[in-house]
Amino acid sequence: MKQTMKETTKKTGKLLTDFLENVKTVAIAGHVRPDGDCVGSCLGTYLYLTENMPELSVDLYLEEEKGAFGILPSLKDAKRTFETDRIYDLLILLDISSADRIGVASEALKTAKKVIIFDHHKTNRETCDFIYNDPAASSASEVVSRFMEMDKISVNCASALYTGIVHDTGVFRYDSTSPDTMRLAAALMEKGIDASTIISETFYKKTYLQNFILGKTLSETRLVLNGKVIVGKITSHDKEQYGIKGTDVDGIVSQMNNTFGVDVSLFMFETEPETWKVSLRSVKLVDVSRVAGAFGGGGHIRAAGCTVEGNGDDLEKQITSEIAKQL
Ligand code: 5GP
Ligand code: MN
Repeated sequence: MKQTMKETTKKTGKLLTDFLENVKTVAIAGHVRPDGDCVGSCLGTYLYLTENMPELSVDLYLEEEKGAFGILPSLKDAKRTFETDRIYDLLILLDISSADRIGVASEALKTAKKVIIFDHHKTNRETCDFIYNDPAASSASEVVSRFMEMDKISVNCASALYTGIVHDTGVFRYDSTSPDTMRLAAALMEKGIDASTIISETFYKKTYLQNFILGKTLSETRLVLNGKVIVGKITSHDKEQYGIKGTDVDGIVSQMNNTFGVDVSLFMFETEPETWKVSLRSVKLVDVSRVAGAFGGGGHIRAAGCTVEGNGDDLEKQITSEIAKQL
């Protein structure tokens, strides 16, 4: 028997349309360095609103995204800079764990008449007019879909939401992938999306340079804390030498985490001399959102990050001793 979404997937009783009373202008925004879930949830929400409520004026704000998300129709509508004189009736923030991580539309947070957030970050401590944060959900895309009616989701909207789920679950692999996640993915597939192209083009395919850097970094990783922690680094010297951009290092930390015996992967990328973008992943034992939190960052139990200034070796020691407290 073909089941409908209402029967199968967790619903909240509220719909996106419930937030639109007296609203004529809407801004939608995600976080800095948007990833697949940020792009998918923002674009999915944008398409849902514009396709079903053509009378609304909706602007989508996204920084230049990582990866090959250009295959998603309508991503070209995204604005890369904020028009400062625009005051929106409603600002919808997706996949935003803290106000300082809003990308181009951070100005809108100060001026919008109403702000609502849909998120799934354990470390989210924000307050606004309405916040729905489910840290157990696979993705912000899954979270926001709970506020949508399935029969109003188009194939393009479904492609965007599916992309978000695929990326934040590591292709349905992480333990945040629930039966509800799979039921939602199935319902989105039934819209006629090209699921296998989305997975291979946006998740797995890499440029030659990205694969080269992945291989180089893996070959230089070290095991510490009795093999429970793996550490990989890319210095600003490497960055200059090979012309590495921030988007080129995606996926390295996840690959490090696919090592038998390892519980925590620590990847450090020196974006500027003595400025390190730190990515943490864990398998089972360590809550890396707490580790990142000790250095001013945040995230999820199994995936977190922070940006820290200082000497790379000193920083590595400080972070590994923070990890050791939980092992
Ligand atoms: P990534 O390692 O892929 O950059 O980030 C993994 C997760 O950690 C992201 O989902 C994001 O929520 C969180 N994260 C990464 N960097 C930061 C940061 O500087 N601050 C906060 N609050 N969260 C971060
Ligand atoms: Mn997310």
